Amino acid sequence: MSEHVPSSYKKLLQKMEDFIVLQSAESIIGWDMLTMMPPKGIELRSRQLALISRFEHKLSTNPEIGSLLKQAMKPSEYEKLNDVQKRNVYLVKKQYDEQTKLPEELVAETAKQQAIATDVWKKAKAAKDFSLFKPELEKVVELRKKAADILMKVKDTATPYDALVDIFEPKTSSVTITHVFDELREGLVKLLKKCTTNPKQPDTDILWREVPIDAQRTIAKALSEFVGYDVTSKNSGGRVDETEHPFTTGYYDDVRITTHYYEDDFAASMFSVLHEAGHAIYEQNLRREWMFQPIGTASSSGIHESQSRMVENIIGRSPEFWTYFFPKMKKIAGAPLSDLKQDDFVHAINKVQPSKIRIESDEVTYSLHIIIRFNLERDLFAGRISVKELPDVWNQSYSDYLGVKIENDSEGLMQDTHWASGGFGYFPSYALGNIYDGQILDTMGKTLPDWRRQLSTGNFGDIKQWLARNVHSYGNMYDPSDLIKKITGEKLNVKPYLNYLETKYSMLYDF
Ligand code: ZN
Repeated sequence: MSEHVPSSYKKLLQKMEDFIVLQSAESIIGWDMLTMMPPKGIELRSRQLALISRFEHKLSTNPEIGSLLKQAMKPSEYEKLNDVQKRNVYLVKKQYDEQTKLPEELVAETAKQQAIATDVWKKAKAAKDFSLFKPELEKVVELRKKAADILMKVKDTATPYDALVDIFEPKTSSVTITHVFDELREGLVKLLKKCTTNPKQPDTDILWREVPIDAQRTIAKALSEFVGYDVTSKNSGGRVDETEHPFTTGYYDDVRITTHYYEDDFAASMFSVLHEAGHAIYEQNLRREWMFQPIGTASSSGIHESQSRMVENIIGRSPEFWTYFFPKMKKIAGAPLSDLKQDDFVHAINKVQPSKIRIESDEVTYSLHIIIRFNLERDLFAGRISVKELPDVWNQSYSDYLGVKIENDSEGLMQDTHWASGGFGYFPSYALGNIYDGQILDTMGKTLPDWRRQLSTGNFGDIKQWLARNVHSYGNMYDPSDLIKKITGEKLNVKPYLNYLETKYSMLYDF
């Protein structure tokens, strides 16, 4: 940092550094809790996590940050900052304003209610009884509405719900999302029909053959290594472990992923590993000099999802990738897959079929599940529907969009944990990630026109380098809409993603 940088800025960044280091410690002991911790450790772990969370709150709401921000934003000092430094100041201010404006009692009450609601949700889901969950969900919604009302003023958003979306997808309004999702829905419903009414249908029974877990572990490592997520070398910055629900956590040089192996569903772990490895290489390719700065993080949840879905679906479910990897998978798996044919396998892993469950859905129907949730959340926070009406609206939407009949609320609106834990505003990120991918892919194709051929020969290096340079290395320099414009020269646009799907599925299904 040059000597001309005002001391207020330097002090501000020092304070943030402590916060960021503490956060990275929290993420690793959170990972340990789900992977390695012996059962008896849970009480001690809860104490550790509660203390860290109190310290984090103290650090991020320290009044000194407020006065340093004031100082750093005085025109005489602010003018001396470059764009990166200005962005850091912006990000610190945003976090500080949000953290200090939310009353502590509201934050504590929400955390408590989310824990209660999550516990009741598990029981209600097992009992297929929404009436158990309803009163707890109503309390969660009330508390999130209170927070959204406050955050709306701090963030200057058009609606309370927009303030919740902004937590995950900064500066992306629900009006914009509604607009792109309507267009996406129309395209997806048409494509869905073409796939499901086509006489050529894949045989998915081949995916239920039993592959020993040890072989699946070896395949998982090979897949990680293929995408440049190093989990085996002496100097590796990653590792693959096992949890019920796969996730990625960590920071720069220590980014870990998890997966789940099912003996009778070998494809599940392969695609979860590719998905999480896509998240991991994003974190590992953030600009080194931005480590410990607010800017040294991902742009948004949607951009993060774009990177995991790029690796999982666009790369990992492409015929070209399997031209390279299919013989390798067969060799590792041995007898159970010895007579498997590549074309049959590629079609089976890309079967389009409307389902009731989001996490079991394919590339064509996935976003429809998200659009349903987004519409419900938006209308719930606008007071157009109540918690009581959610099941009916949910079931009707599933019938309208996907043509499936929901038999009970456990396979309906109680399937996901997000609402119990107060995660309103998060769902849109999943489908926005898909839309971003279409645009990113189009742009990548202009500089790497033969990326598909490269993939078929086992070369992922150029693609990875392109993503690192054009997406990952920008960190949090831009909000997602600005980042997409910076990368592609265009604003948010659904067409490239729909074109990608149309081309891919017309080849698989012959239409
Ligand atoms: Zn993800």
